[in-house]
Amino acid sequence: GIHDRQLHVFFFPFFANGHIIPTIELARVFASRGLKTTVVTTPLNEPLISRTVGKANITIRTIKFPSPEQTGLPEGCENSDHLSGMQIIPFLKSTVLLRDPLEQLLQQERPDLIIADMFFPWATDSAAKFGIPRIVFHGLGFFPLCVSACVRQYKPQDKVSSYTEPFVVPNLPGEITITKMQLPQTPKHDGEFTKLLDEANASELNSYGVIANSFYELEPVYADHYRNELGRKAWHLGPVCLSNRDTAEKAQRGNEAMIDEHECLKWLDSKEPDSVVYVCFGSMTTFPDAQLKEIALGLEASGQPFIWVVKKGSSENLEWLPEGFEERTVDQGKGLIIRGWAPQVMILDHKAVGGFVSHCGWNSAMEGVCAGLPMVTWPMYAEQFYNAKFLTDIVKTGVSVGVQTWIGMMGGGPVKKEVIEKAVKRIMVGDEAEQIRNRAKEIAQMAKRAVEEGGSSYSDFDSLIEDLRSRTL
Ligand code: UDP
Repeated sequence: GIHDRQLHVFFFPFFANGHIIPTIELARVFASRGLKTTVVTTPLNEPLISRTVGKANITIRTIKFPSPEQTGLPEGCENSDHLSGMQIIPFLKSTVLLRDPLEQLLQQERPDLIIADMFFPWATDSAAKFGIPRIVFHGLGFFPLCVSACVRQYKPQDKVSSYTEPFVVPNLPGEITITKMQLPQTPKHDGEFTKLLDEANASELNSYGVIANSFYELEPVYADHYRNELGRKAWHLGPVCLSNRDTAEKAQRGNEAMIDEHECLKWLDSKEPDSVVYVCFGSMTTFPDAQLKEIALGLEASGQPFIWVVKKGSSENLEWLPEGFEERTVDQGKGLIIRGWAPQVMILDHKAVGGFVSHCGWNSAMEGVCAGLPMVTWPMYAEQFYNAKFLTDIVKTGVSVGVQTWIGMMGGGPVKKEVIEKAVKRIMVGDEAEQIRNRAKEIAQMAKRAVEEGGSSYSDFDSLIEDLRSRTL
């Protein structure tokens, strides 16, 4: 019966690196705890998933992505990281066409649970047809989940007239102040995106619950608030990036790295502990050339060795770099520029790395936390402003670079080199940096304990399994 047989769980991540990586790492948690684990994806995402799965005991099943005739998208568009900004809405909308093939697979395999991305709101109903519970995975922690829920419920943004006027988010511990410009839906979005988010929210409320990529000790107040005040069912099983730390079966993550990993490690080995600053803005963000120039000069002026990930094709010229920059930095061994995909976690975990300049995607935030690093927060869009606030004001391991609005909105020009230099120095040198680093290292220890046997995330996994077994009785 359900009490003793092996449970089978389906995972269905949205087609983007930033969603696939944490979902597979979550699947690793289930596989390592002895559950039968299947990831569902589409043919063109299969290689990416397979690389991220590595040797873990996870089965991959593919369902066909709708054709260009059905979606209006170009041939071969199955991953949002390859889309232009204009195509994201049609892409999100077209995924509803995966409903039939997913239901066929559910009917065949009859898993005990499906953990599906927030961007597949229809999955709750699909699963319900077969009596299967659906859990939502946003890849977020409790703080951004709480802020999103309270903004949605109380709409404090409707009471302010300008985009830059701060307002307090009601019914949230800690007087959290934001502006309209820091909400995931800005005026840049037409109603369609808002509609998609509304659907996601409705399906979440009908679902079995939410899995948070977090651990209790990191945000006890918001974990409790989410469950007890907002009345949501949730389990915290993170940080999921720690599920991929076992060197014996360590997998690559996401895209193929654009740098030889051994070369990268050798470069890092030649640097002093805690001296290198790692700069990366996630899997998608590209900056205008004027901003890249300021970042280059700011890093150089900071005097710290750096690894800087720039999402520019290697075929593009280097005109965006300041005159003589590579000669003065890269050629002198003072900097490494990775054009394309970096082996981020490998870099963050190296002892030479002492700080992280980040756009504050939740995955990057957790990876910085687990590596025990002070961070410069430089949010761009989506819920990144919430995450940045979390690091600077709640966890207090972050220092803000001062960005207040969505990238590309409201003008204002690039963040200047002096500002970047100052922020980098604040997390790398001096008393304040040392204090932040000590705190960050303590929190990293807590994260490790949380996922070990008896830790809070390890135990919450047991609660989830208990809930499932008693539900399906
Ligand atoms: N990542 C990476 N190399 C890169 C860029 C990103 O390994 O060059 C990984 C990063 O470690 C994280 C994920 O991609 O796991 C990005 O997720 P995040 O939530 O930080 O940001 P997003 O890309 O979704 O904006």
